[in-house]
Amino acid sequence: MFQINENYLKLKAGYLFPEIGRRVAAFSDAHPDAQIIKLGIGDVTEPLPAAVVAGMHAAVDELASRDSFHGYGPEQGYAFLRDPIAEQDYQARGVNVSADEIFVSDGSKCDTGNILDILGANNSIAITDPVYPVYVDTNVMAGHTGEADDAGRYDKLVYLPVTADNNFVAELPTSPVDIIYLCYPNNPTGTVATKETLQKWVDYAREHGSLIMFDAAYEAFVSDPSLPRSIYEVDGARECAIEFRSFSKNIGFTGVRCAFTVVPKDLKATASCGTEVSLHQLWNRRQSTKFNGASYVVQKGAAAAYTPEGRAQMKSLIDFYMTNAKLLREGLEAVGITVYGGEHAPYVWLQTPDGMGSWDFFDRLLDKGHLVGTPGSGFGAAGEGYFRLSAFNSRENVETAIERFKSVVS
Ligand SMILES: *Cc1c(COP(=O)(O)O)cnc(C)c1O
Repeated sequence: MFQINENYLKLKAGYLFPEIGRRVAAFSDAHPDAQIIKLGIGDVTEPLPAAVVAGMHAAVDELASRDSFHGYGPEQGYAFLRDPIAEQDYQARGVNVSADEIFVSDGSKCDTGNILDILGANNSIAITDPVYPVYVDTNVMAGHTGEADDAGRYDKLVYLPVTADNNFVAELPTSPVDIIYLCYPNNPTGTVATKETLQKWVDYAREHGSLIMFDAAYEAFVSDPSLPRSIYEVDGARECAIEFRSFSKNIGFTGVRCAFTVVPKDLKATASCGTEVSLHQLWNRRQSTKFNGASYVVQKGAAAAYTPEGRAQMKSLIDFYMTNAKLLREGLEAVGITVYGGEHAPYVWLQTPDGMGSWDFFDRLLDKGHLVGTPGSGFGAAGEGYFRLSAFNSRENVETAIERFKSVVS
């Protein structure tokens, strides 16, 4: 009889979004005329930039002719995409990342999970609380945790609370950890890290021989030029950090699928036999064996985002969402709600009024305002008492939502 990976049995049954769906469906059934506005799931709403669409059209036409056809491409991605990433996203900002340290893929979600293939099974792992659930669940699946307790906290994971009390900056762990997941600008809290904060983590990692997994999926939303967009803007990060970036949020590729991961050549580990091993080489080996590259058409589309027109269109797309975020922030503050985030990230993280529980607030918002958001407790126990609103929506929906919010809260 074959066996299964029983680590999957430890997973808390994908609770958050199914539970939201269940409550929304029940409300809709009871109130079929209610016009529900969803500010919940972090998916983009606006169409692709025109330059990106043109890039993909041209790529499809190339594939339609024998002379310009492309079959399998490089597993690491085409130079026509890796080069402008290295030049524009890194070198132009004075950051030392070369094109051959960039691995193009079909998503950051899969990369953050797949990276565990090249890491050992006995690392102690730290995550912030609240957190993007993928970091947790992929480690559960890989057998790196024990069972979850009633609050949903897994044995063997180190949880670092981020709340208003610490200004959403996690304290350094009190017992040494080997792997640290950081996401800035942050999903779900919408908060951002300063260079000093990242430096503190990089210094910690170098002192303890730890690895930082830096998720920069929202870097394009950073609007203050003094804030870091990459962990490699911090001294020493090339020796201790892997960075994940995605085209999902900046050019609307959640359905198209393209991302990249940076594994610097300076990043070394020591095998149990004492040999020094390059993580870059391990990841290259992993990708060459288990991945056959992102689609040619999609990479051409992503590359078009690095042309001057593409840059300008990407910027206006981000500006559009960030204006939504600003309206949400201002609208909520006007009715006395305490809000965080939404300045360098497309998420607004609000404190529920009157100390309401996250799910109670969810029900009240749905019932009284026909609005759907995401309960903070769904991202971790320390998210209790908070609530996430996404700025990924039409302007009209955002404006209507703010009006309804006012009537619910006041
Ligand atoms: C949206 C998002 C990503 C992007 O994932 P893709 O698989 O590239 O779409 C990565 N990390 C976080 C925290 C996100 O919210």
